[in-house]
Amino acid sequence: MIICAKYLMTGDGETVLEGQAVLTGGDGKIKKIAPKEELVQDFPEEEVKDYGEATLLPGLCDMHVHLAYWYSQPDSFNYNEQMITLYALQHAQAAFERGITSVRDMSSYHGVCRSLKLAQEKGFITIPRITHTDTGMCMTGGHACDEVPEVDGPWEVRKEIRKQVRDGAEWVKILTTHRSHIPEFTQEELNAAVDECHRRGIKCGVHAGTNPGIQMCIDAGFDTIEHATFMTVDHAKQMAEKGIAWTPTIMAYTLLYDICKENLEKNAGKPVNDPVMQKEMKDYQYFEPAYKAYRDHFKEFYDTGVTVIAGTDMVMYQSPLLPLPRELQYMVEYGITPVQAIQTATSNPAKVLGVENERGLVKEGLDADLLVVGGELSKDITCLNDVKLVTLGGKRVFEDGIRYVGTGNMFM
Ligand SMILES: [Zn+2]
Repeated sequence: MIICAKYLMTGDGETVLEGQAVLTGGDGKIKKIAPKEELVQDFPEEEVKDYGEATLLPGLCDMHVHLAYWYSQPDSFNYNEQMITLYALQHAQAAFERGITSVRDMSSYHGVCRSLKLAQEKGFITIPRITHTDTGMCMTGGHACDEVPEVDGPWEVRKEIRKQVRDGAEWVKILTTHRSHIPEFTQEELNAAVDECHRRGIKCGVHAGTNPGIQMCIDAGFDTIEHATFMTVDHAKQMAEKGIAWTPTIMAYTLLYDICKENLEKNAGKPVNDPVMQKEMKDYQYFEPAYKAYRDHFKEFYDTGVTVIAGTDMVMYQSPLLPLPRELQYMVEYGITPVQAIQTATSNPAKVLGVENERGLVKEGLDADLLVVGGELSKDITCLNDVKLVTLGGKRVFEDGIRYVGTGNMFM
């Protein structure tokens, strides 16, 4: 297939070419990048898709998802293992509509991502490429303790990591702060987590939003810090120096801020000791400064050179599934260019995942995971809302509003 669009954004954070077309090969890779006329002449048998005033770029990667997060469903009692897996499947397939071809799952119901990935390899289902943790873990009574295993002490942390790796985890997720300045895991436990992962050759990400938890995670040497909501420029500089990537998840915190602001307005007449009001006010006290921290400081942190990776972390009932285009739009609203924002969802994730020789750029020899959006994306990030075509390994998975997620190659 030859795909042409007026603009080609390679995903390296700088390069936008004009008048180029991409030839995908039968092996699912990008075979050649050259002007359309040249490709059409050299490969006359190939189907040609010309999108005109549009931008071709790498398929996006959402670096913080929870495909099997079902806990907030109002009928959660209906969610047995089969329902959870089906829920995760529809969540994964929704990704294509947003131009997403890869995700990193940062904790889900035990075993679900592993099964989805296996089903994909066997050709049962068509979903984005998944890199996944298992369930994650926290200290006893720590953040998300109703949903993830509780472990205490360095050896319990190591043992839980060993179990999760045994059960197929490709990354490990640790949770260590929760809306308070009291860190959860001790430094010794955090150090043990990183050491156990790294000596096994796998990477680990950590949920840390407050101080001094963020500094403790930097000291421990995690590979990615999730949220880091209240970090400082000094933290960002340290992360840049140590090669720790940052997943801000602006969208999640902004949506939660919007929701509790709206709820407070709606319930304005209620007495302040009303339990609903008390919950909303408590949430507001965290999410308002969180929203402002991203709004006011994102650009300063970005400018330290810390590797930013885009993730959405949307899990609440009725929240949009994987709204990565909106996350990137916030980044642009807060001061970086669309070309830089796209890098946080393409080549930066590929490097953090260690697959930069396979994907993350529009480059000859890499996987043909491609996205075409209407308009000139380098001038207007909202072009991401107009997804024309998504390919995964050279096969069409979404086009003109329709998902092509059947089995095998029947659609191509
Ligand atoms: Zn999360």
